[in-house]
Amino acid sequence: MSVPTLAAAPSLCAPLPVLGRDVTVPLVTGGEVAYAALDYAASAPALQRVWDDVAAYAPCYGSVHRGAGYLSQLSTDLFENARRTVAAFLDCRDTDQVVFTRSTTDSLNLLAAALPDGCEVFVFETEHHASLLPWRNARVTCLDAPSSPRQAVDTLERALADRTASVHGGHGPALVCVTGASNVTGELWPVRELAAAAHAHGARIVLDAAQLAPHHPVSVRDLDVDWVAFSGHKLYAPFGSGVLAGRADWLREAEPYLAGGGASRRVTRRADGGLDVEWHDGAARHEAGSPNVIGAHAVASACKALTEAGFDTLVAREEHLIRTVREGLADVPEVRFLSLFGDDAPRVGVLSFVVEGWNSSHFAAALSAEYGIGVRDGLFCAHPLVRRLLGGDPRSQGECGAPEAAPGEKSLNAVRVSFGAGT
Ligand code: PLP
Repeated sequence: MSVPTLAAAPSLCAPLPVLGRDVTVPLVTGGEVAYAALDYAASAPALQRVWDDVAAYAPCYGSVHRGAGYLSQLSTDLFENARRTVAAFLDCRDTDQVVFTRSTTDSLNLLAAALPDGCEVFVFETEHHASLLPWRNARVTCLDAPSSPRQAVDTLERALADRTASVHGGHGPALVCVTGASNVTGELWPVRELAAAAHAHGARIVLDAAQLAPHHPVSVRDLDVDWVAFSGHKLYAPFGSGVLAGRADWLREAEPYLAGGGASRRVTRRADGGLDVEWHDGAARHEAGSPNVIGAHAVASACKALTEAGFDTLVAREEHLIRTVREGLADVPEVRFLSLFGDDAPRVGVLSFVVEGWNSSHFAAALSAEYGIGVRDGLFCAHPLVRRLLGGDPRSQGECGAPEAAPGEKSLNAVRVSFGAGT
């Protein structure tokens, strides 16, 4: 199996069944075909450059922030340099903090744990569950799916204006959580405008860049978002690392996300038998325990690789692939693409569709078994959105969680194809 390289990405322009990684699979109907994993939105295969950088670190392997030895110093430098690389990749403000986490889910749960008392949270029903669900200790307002980027901004404006006009107060802290690119439709959201609306109404905003960062440059300064979260495994690094970057104040004032060594500056035993703890202020406050230095190093390596390859090349390549799939499927009258903002809306390399008369799970299984094309089927951890896009009621309990539809019945789930560097 060869590992994709960014350098190879622009030159690959083969028909679909032979796109992607150099893996062959036996077909149900006999013979073999090159396997195409078109599921980058779930996890993008780590780049060879990233594996090489990780392997190059092996001789320096040592504890981080915990040892006086030379290797510990090297590992600590590597870890802190990774932080700086990520900050540069995201074009963070000088005062921003980069916290290494396990994933986007972990990053948003961290932020949820750091919300000030009484914080209200605003999310669109269109979000991935990682953005929809972490805010369990806050009052959450879930906004209807918009049908255009403009309507998204108007909907948020109205909800925030209602909050500030409310007789119940509405002047406490508030947070908007929004995705930069949908993991279902691939559509780009008007992040800068949503951030402006949030700030105009005294709210803050966190950008879920899990799907955006692998495909587009993300500038915290330019978008003027307060935080951004992304996952290493969607950005061509291996599993297990993520990032929460942004304003330091709420994070500094919050209890540590995890309690333990590394997060604590001083621990003393009181005369009454209790413990007093003084926590660190910086990123370490929320990074208790021995950190995932390989993960951080891999994320930094992927950030550098993407920056050097240039997003323009990647975007052009993905747009070409999306067009190819669309045009190919346009001849199939049963195919219906899922979109909120219209088929021509700008999007990353993610496309979902249903094939009327087909159960999407069966369709996806057939693509793999008959053609060697690996896609994702299901509800993509965005149940309310997919339910709406399939013509159901996003507020209903419905059957949307069930993957099975009887033959000939309306599909209860969808098929997703997604691309990235190396396809
Ligand atoms: N947000 C979006 C838009 C996603 O697509 C995903 C994963 O698919 C996540 C968040 C969660 O990412 P992770 O599973 O890496 O935490």
